Amino acid sequence: MKKPKAHIRYALGAALDALLPRLCPVCRSTLGRGETLMCACCLAMAPRTLMHRRRDNSVAARVSRPGLEPALAAAWLEYRRDSPYASVVRDAKFRHMPAMAREAGRIYGLELMADGVPQLADIDVLLPVPLHWRRLLQRGYNQSREAAEGLADATGIDVGDNLVATRAHRTQTRQSAEARRRNVSGIIAVRHPDELRGLHVAVVDDVVTTGSTLSDALRAVQACGPRAMSVLALGAVPADAFHFAPECGQQ
Ligand SMILES: [Zn+2]
Repeated sequence: MKKPKAHIRYALGAALDALLPRLCPVCRSTLGRGETLMCACCLAMAPRTLMHRRRDNSVAARVSRPGLEPALAAAWLEYRRDSPYASVVRDAKFRHMPAMAREAGRIYGLELMADGVPQLADIDVLLPVPLHWRRLLQRGYNQSREAAEGLADATGIDVGDNLVATRAHRTQTRQSAEARRRNVSGIIAVRHPDELRGLHVAVVDDVVTTGSTLSDALRAVQACGPRAMSVLALGAVPADAFHFAPECGQQ
């Protein structure tokens, strides 16, 4: 894997310093030198899922189907809507702070590397869950792409743009899991199927709720004949809390 060069890392650090908020989004204390996404205390206490250590974790269960089992399925933080940590993902998504999603992805990537996750070295390309172009126009960025770029900054894995949303999701607020599955079924397509043949493709999302969006993306990738598939996300709603995170489905 390629390592980002020092001057690129420096430039990235300077850019992030300028773009990231200077208050910890979790405890609201002023960030110190070298603290980027949140203060060191909140980062140390962050509710990590550590799902990458267990193959049979709850995100794997949400996206697996017969004949479709991810090599690695993991999310960085447990996402509870009423937790102060939810603001890390929520600000990145709804408050026009793409640098937060990128920095969260970068920190997650560094932690996965530090934990020696074996599947990571095998991944050829990170593909962000796409936003429909209309939503992209409204928001100006795709938070899943920013997360993927952050993961790439840490790991050196390439980011691709081979996934495309063929129509916009309806807002999934307060929909049942089955309705969510129907809503997103078949809306993600692959632009250049030949380019994914034989690769280990990791799909990157911001928050996993029911997993229906990721499942849809994996189905589209699977049809291209990849060697393996994985999913990585910044957050995962605990499996018992779907109905308490209504904004998560707003792609
Ligand atoms: Zn803090």
